[in-house]
Amino acid sequence: MKVFHGTATYEGIAIGKVQYLRKNEQHIRQYTVENARREIRRFQKAKEKTLDGLKFMLEQMEQEFMESEAKILRRRIKLLEDGSFARAIESQVLSEKVNAAYAIITTRDEIARTFAKMNDEVVRNRITDIKDISNRMILMIEGIAREDYANMEPVIVVANNLSPTEVMEMDQNKLLAFVSREGSPVSHTAIISKTLSIPALIGIEVDPSWEDKMAIVDGYEGAFYLEPTRRVLEKYQEMQQKEQQDKEFLMKLRNMEDVTLDGTKVRLYANIRSLEDIRSVQEVGASGIGLLRSEFQYLGRENYPREAELFRAYRKVASIMGEKLVIIRTLDIGADKKAEYMDLPDEENPAMGNRGIRVCLERRKMFKAQLRAIYRASAFGNLAIMYPMITSLEEVHEIKKIIQEVVEGLNQKEIPFGKIQHGIMVETPAAVMIADDLAKEVDFLSLGTNDLTQYILAMDRKNSSLKDRYDEHHPAVLKMIKMTIDAAHRQGCWACICGELAGDTTMTKTFLEMGVDVLSVVAPSVLSVRKTIREIRLGEE
Ligand code: PEP
Ligand code: MG
Repeated sequence: MKVFHGTATYEGIAIGKVQYLRKNEQHIRQYTVENARREIRRFQKAKEKTLDGLKFMLEQMEQEFMESEAKILRRRIKLLEDGSFARAIESQVLSEKVNAAYAIITTRDEIARTFAKMNDEVVRNRITDIKDISNRMILMIEGIAREDYANMEPVIVVANNLSPTEVMEMDQNKLLAFVSREGSPVSHTAIISKTLSIPALIGIEVDPSWEDKMAIVDGYEGAFYLEPTRRVLEKYQEMQQKEQQDKEFLMKLRNMEDVTLDGTKVRLYANIRSLEDIRSVQEVGASGIGLLRSEFQYLGRENYPREAELFRAYRKVASIMGEKLVIIRTLDIGADKKAEYMDLPDEENPAMGNRGIRVCLERRKMFKAQLRAIYRASAFGNLAIMYPMITSLEEVHEIKKIIQEVVEGLNQKEIPFGKIQHGIMVETPAAVMIADDLAKEVDFLSLGTNDLTQYILAMDRKNSSLKDRYDEHHPAVLKMIKMTIDAAHRQGCWACICGELAGDTTMTKTFLEMGVDVLSVVAPSVLSVRKTIREIRLGEE
């Protein structure tokens, strides 16, 4: 047995055989075909199947708003449909009577060789595209593509790196886990593994010789066991059984109400980081989205997202969730979330720097585009907006002025919008101390306990050397949570907790006793919090 340690990007246990993802390693030999016309038909069939596959993936990417992946796929579809590459292959099959797969390889390599020395981005992209579609067609012709998953037992997919496109291509029912050398916890692939609810590890030195060997992925400890001993295998089988029982038990709660034993109803919402997370929100039956971290459309790109792109994403969430409330937090950029194109200067103390609403009020055009997109999307569902990092009443007045301008603009153009609730994130001690004044201006207050804790304790939430002192249960934190909830209620607002602390089931009873109306937690925590709520009797020791 060998044990490797990496970083888990999603928890869970997987036990199974390794499938090492090989790329561009088809060993195709040349042979003469008797019937060239028949071979061409075989090629054309493979080409059509490849096109179908690419179009299917394109649809998925468009639905998930993965625009850069979609752009590449559109280019490849066009290349295949355009016909000149395919014609070159067909002509070789016909004139030389060679097998189609071999003709694809030679045509592909010839094009790559011819243009290899040209250092032009368009040409480089074209070569990559030709290689990609060639490989896909070869896989189709050789019959070792997607269909083969049908006869395959579920596997642990191991690769140097895994792109979201590759993951999308796989039969997702045959995937037990992902293990890769490269990757990051916030990569799209890691996000897909979360959406699929399968464990994933990154940072493991993978090796092709692992193919077909038995392995265990421990997504709790970030460990990978190759050819585990019987004792280790049995231990993990037991853990897996227990994990399954827990999941099944919790899934029974998916359509149940969030109500305590004494009949107090709580609204249990989910936090999402991107549109991809909506599926898991639906799976666990959360009754709304309490925090949509809207940064996902602003990060990892080269320029500001346009209003139309923002609108399409918000409209999608709004329509999927229907009558259920979706709270979109306006852009909370700055601190650890930086976008190059925004050119935000480096700061000595970023957590205390220009972030959240401060940046939005400085960059009005950007802020207005987001607000307009949310307003337009509100015609398709039940939306609320909340503002991060508020410290003063003046900020709220400024926001209201901008909102008024947005509303006037939409009315002038007769663009419809729905009724929108407005909320303030209480995540600075200043906001807690003026919570009554703030609550008078809005419909709800939402406690961002992650930031609130770091600012109350004056401890950077990312500083690992403070991890033993960083105490989210500190009496000062709890007192400020209570103060905020009371202020909200005094002013006729409802109160929510949307920081990570909302998912801490040891605190659920305390929060309900404080009178919180909404708890918003990551989707995988919804069912365990629901279970806890349903076991609580308020007023009982
Ligand atoms: C918080 O600060 O608690 C919060 C929910 O916002 P974020 O974690 O995105 O800063
Ligand atoms: Mg915050």
